[in-house]
Amino acid sequence: MTQLPTSFHVVIAGGGISGLALALFLNKAGISCSIYEAYGYKATIGAGFNIAPNGMNVLDALGLAEKVAAAGAVSEEVCMRNGKGKVIVSLPNGSVEKYGQPGVSLSRAALYDILLQELKDQGLTVHYHKRLCDIRQAEDNVTAVFTDGTRTTGDVLIGADGVHSATRQLLFPEAPTPAFTCMKNYGGFAPLSALPEMTAQEINSLNFTFGNDGFIGYCAAGNGMAMWWSNLPSDVPFTKEELDSTTVEEVKTLMQDRYKNYHAPIPALIAHTEKVLKVNVSDIASLSSWHKGRVLLIGDAAHAVSPSAGQGASMALEDAMYLGMLLRDAGVGSYAAAFRKFEADRKPRVEKIVAEGRRRSRSKNILRPWQAKIRDWMMAIFIPLFAPKSFDWLYRYKLDWQMKY
Ligand SMILES: Cc1cc2nc3c(=O)[nH]c(=O)nc-3n(C[C@H](O)[C@H](O)[C@H](O)COP(=O)(O)OP(=O)(O)OC[C@H]3O[C@@H](n4cnc5c(N)ncnc54)[C@H](O)[C@@H]3O)c2cc1C
Repeated sequence: MTQLPTSFHVVIAGGGISGLALALFLNKAGISCSIYEAYGYKATIGAGFNIAPNGMNVLDALGLAEKVAAAGAVSEEVCMRNGKGKVIVSLPNGSVEKYGQPGVSLSRAALYDILLQELKDQGLTVHYHKRLCDIRQAEDNVTAVFTDGTRTTGDVLIGADGVHSATRQLLFPEAPTPAFTCMKNYGGFAPLSALPEMTAQEINSLNFTFGNDGFIGYCAAGNGMAMWWSNLPSDVPFTKEELDSTTVEEVKTLMQDRYKNYHAPIPALIAHTEKVLKVNVSDIASLSSWHKGRVLLIGDAAHAVSPSAGQGASMALEDAMYLGMLLRDAGVGSYAAAFRKFEADRKPRVEKIVAEGRRRSRSKNILRPWQAKIRDWMMAIFIPLFAPKSFDWLYRYKLDWQMKY
């Protein structure tokens, strides 16, 4: 196929994981692009996450896997415990021999630092305080309009603007809005130096505790820090006022009260928390289409996954790499074929993961003690039987930049 014309320009709305990674892949493919982010530099950064081996393989294709592993902590195992600390089941979190990369836990800020530094080194910049509010599609171009009255024009527009995507709402006003998964998320960071009770095995693992008062997870996050996250069922989401008024002390008091009887190091992790985050967990089961005309959705804008799947960031990275490859190999004027192929190839995988995230969220419901005992027995029996296969399916996915489409 003939390559896209060199004047071909991609406008990216959203400077999150998918937007930043897409810009790097487009640059690698020799395609011009510019990124427009609603907030200021790193203003949206909180919490942290685990990048699974499949996501780390995408970072490796950008030459960034080693930097990310060095900035974070390798999580070699997944260890599930009950509230008293008894191990229910422990499994390898992938395998470097098998999948090429480990799973790495780190703060969102650390990942953004690496992606933003790489963009800077390649001469690319993010345009901050540019909130997309309108899209004008014409026969031979598309214009993104921002709330400050400015606009920019390109050949295509990629909506990488996250779970509450304005691009999605403008493109498909009739599409389902993100659904509250009846799960509220609290999280925080504490220095490892204040947590002598956190064992070497816990530092090298993703630790999931399913106690009688709810689920809490924790792990090392690199840079001398540990992070924790609590997923609590709720019929109603946090209101905007509740989200805006979050204070470290308020979250600590609530969490200390709930988890005071849990095993070490959980009470200490909460007591030493320095930074907190509070969010409603939302997902999108399925959109009938991810593209219209010259506009395509990627990442959470197309397919928000519950954090329980531990895959949203990896899906955003996979999307960025695959779209970069498809646009690289698209013929002149055939971005539309690339968009169709992107949706057809990515949708089955991500929708299976969205469903998996919903299923895993259900295991975090608060149960009566006798129900929790049954859940623990079931987990001890069924997770070793089925988890290796479900991890394998997720982790073994690997794109090869040298392949042509
Ligand atoms: C609490 C929590 C824990 C998670 N844990 C994990 C985990 O362990 N592992 C994992 O893989 N995933 C995890 N995820 C999911 C992961 O964070 C997301 O799937 C991932 O960030 C999606 O990347 P994205 O680029 O699509 O969207 P985002 O990273 O959300 O980026 C979207 C960007 O678009 C910007 N934006 C929004 N609106 C506009 C607009 N109108 N104009 C311009 N810019 C706009 C936003 O400010 C943001 O910077 C977690 C999510 C949450 C909430």
